[in-house]
Amino acid sequence: GAVEQVDVAIIGAGPAGAAAAAWLAREGLRVRVLEQSTFPRFSIGESLLPQCMQYLQECGLLAAAQAGGFQYKDGAAFCWRNESAAVLFTEKFSAGPGTTWQVPRADFDQRLIEGAQALGAEVLFGCKVTGFVADAKQPRISLITAEGEAQQLQARFVLDASGYGRVLARLTGLACDSVLESRCALFMHVEDRIDSLDYDRNKILIGIHPQLPGVWYWLIPFSDGRASVGVVGDRATLEQAGQDDAERLWAMLRQEPRYAELLKNAVQVRDTGRLEGYSAAVKQLHGPGFALLGNAGEFLDPVFSSGVTIALHSGWLAAPLVQRQLRGEAVDWQSEFELPLRAGVDTFREFVLAWYDGRLPRIIFNERQPERIRGMISAVLAGYAWDTDNPLVAASRRRLDALAESSTDSRFDLAAGEC
Ligand code: FAD
Repeated sequence: GAVEQVDVAIIGAGPAGAAAAAWLAREGLRVRVLEQSTFPRFSIGESLLPQCMQYLQECGLLAAAQAGGFQYKDGAAFCWRNESAAVLFTEKFSAGPGTTWQVPRADFDQRLIEGAQALGAEVLFGCKVTGFVADAKQPRISLITAEGEAQQLQARFVLDASGYGRVLARLTGLACDSVLESRCALFMHVEDRIDSLDYDRNKILIGIHPQLPGVWYWLIPFSDGRASVGVVGDRATLEQAGQDDAERLWAMLRQEPRYAELLKNAVQVRDTGRLEGYSAAVKQLHGPGFALLGNAGEFLDPVFSSGVTIALHSGWLAAPLVQRQLRGEAVDWQSEFELPLRAGVDTFREFVLAWYDGRLPRIIFNERQPERIRGMISAVLAGYAWDTDNPLVAASRRRLDALAESSTDSRFDLAAGEC
């Protein structure tokens, strides 16, 4: 039959897809989102960064998210052996929102895509994209509908927001390996029953294993008494901790004293999940008639909770460019999309590298860090990784080196891997 036509086809209804869909639909374009699962669906990535509130606002999705009554978040707490440290987002160097939420993604993502629908985007669930023909003017998608029927869809532009599906990166041969090591994450939801008086639910808690280098934990409380808990490490280390993933996760949690204490009454309410080799990259974030958003482009590492912020940033950045292109204006996707998006991703990558080689923990646990420096670190950890007024953004590597150097009085050095 006749091939259907839309202005913009978007693959995937996660945060990146929802942000772009909302922005473009609000501008009156005919937007169709193709999502292979049915919502609500589980996703990992539950701790947000304040910077992402700006993108939600500008894409017209803030009110829809706000209605979720999500857990307030104002910073990140860290623990390692007997040390503890907190990064307060309200101390941040950069301008912009200083608080955010921690969200069960099934609920959060559903609210965002419903917000996009309310602005006029059409969303087809249960609809899997299987093929793609790149073309500067008439890119074409092949898909399998919820009813199992093979169809074609022609668009004037295609945005790939398929997350770990990486649909267009695979189909167009743009996929490549990340410079980051392959790691493994085990995670679950618990009814946390935390009763410690000194525990702050308004922060993500990041713990570092007392002996094993490179192994760290997250504890992300939600507003309903539940929490997301996870451990990240190399596969072999996690494998030897137990017979199955649930046993391994619980065993690892008991090895960290603060986690063991906080979770002593916790009851698991969701099966243990596992993700590995999630770091991925692409040679280019755009091609004829298409661009890659969020995780469908590059994914770094979960340690700084930057994934959803980068996803929303990419949708927010791409949408106005698509509109301009469809109006017939020239858009240089390299200089207007790829380079500016990558600038912030590069900042986060430098921080991820500094986390795993021990420089960043040393900086974070340095109690004598001047207030001005704390503000610069806080800004990046709050997601303001694109603010080049921040010296830690403008020259991340050099500044992180210098700061780690001046924090040598710390009582430990993770890079030395004292096992
Ligand atoms: P997604 O949210 O993954 O959405 C992609 C959608 O595309 C999915 O709904 C999928 O069903 C759909 N799709 C896939 N293939 C197809 C297809 N062929 N056809 C149609 N639809 C398709 N980020 C944070 O911000 N905070 C955190 O605390 C955090 N923790 C993390 C912990 C771990 C262990 C990992 C691995 C990641 C974490 N992340 C975190 C990252 C976060 O999960 C992602 O960055 C984020 O979900 C990306 O959003 P997205 O919109 O790009 O893709």
